[in-house]
Amino acid sequence: MRTKLVMGNWKMHGNLQTNEVLLARLLAGWGEGRAAGLAVCVPTPYLAQTQNLLRGSAIGWGAQNVSKHLSGAYTGEVSASMLLDFGCQYVLIGHSERRAIYGETDSVAAAKFSAALSAGLIPVLCVGETLVERESGVTEEVIARQLDAVLELAGTQGFGRAVVAYEPVWAIGTGKTASPEQAQAVHANIRQRLAEHDAHLAAKLQLLYGGSVKASNAAELFAMPDIDGALVGGASLVAEEFLAIGQAACA
Ligand code: PEP
Repeated sequence: MRTKLVMGNWKMHGNLQTNEVLLARLLAGWGEGRAAGLAVCVPTPYLAQTQNLLRGSAIGWGAQNVSKHLSGAYTGEVSASMLLDFGCQYVLIGHSERRAIYGETDSVAAAKFSAALSAGLIPVLCVGETLVERESGVTEEVIARQLDAVLELAGTQGFGRAVVAYEPVWAIGTGKTASPEQAQAVHANIRQRLAEHDAHLAAKLQLLYGGSVKASNAAELFAMPDIDGALVGGASLVAEEFLAIGQAACA
């Protein structure tokens, strides 16, 4: 039985004041003893604030990106050990915005995944196809390529302490959600692909769905057997929405 996880991706939103209000509302609404996990991935400059406010609570936190390098002359980069210093448990890897806007390739995502793992962070590997790829019928191929790059570098065991998020690019920030059946089909395929390497590990892996998840569609997605929670962008900036998604994951 896999515990569900609902993770927010704040992207490049927030400031000290709005973060404080949002985190206070989350803390008020999410205590210990919930059947699901709740976490937020915040912009790097706000990790210290997040750590101060969430420390000792039932809400986890993480970052949205990490360097593939461990340390050195890499101006502007942030290493996995630096994220650990701020209590991060998670880091998003290969989010479609990083792939599309910053040219992150599968091999860069794989290197970041490995750097995160070796520092003791839990990488949340984001995979997913564009609309053109879906319409061309290559969804499975694209996701296989994204997974295989990580499998090659980190090995199957790398997924033993990782989370995978299926995020169809056409559903991110667009208001279009994959239907529960569409998402389930891809999730089952991801699990099956990993099961070919290690069935036990694949059965335990948390597979999140991301793409316009809201309080109103979360429950039907979470009812699917291979959907173990959600990676939530826009709706994670509204405390009541995000908490309601978390609540749906506890049902
Ligand atoms: C995301 O940024 O990972 C995401 C899923 O965004 P949204 O929920 O806004 O579609």
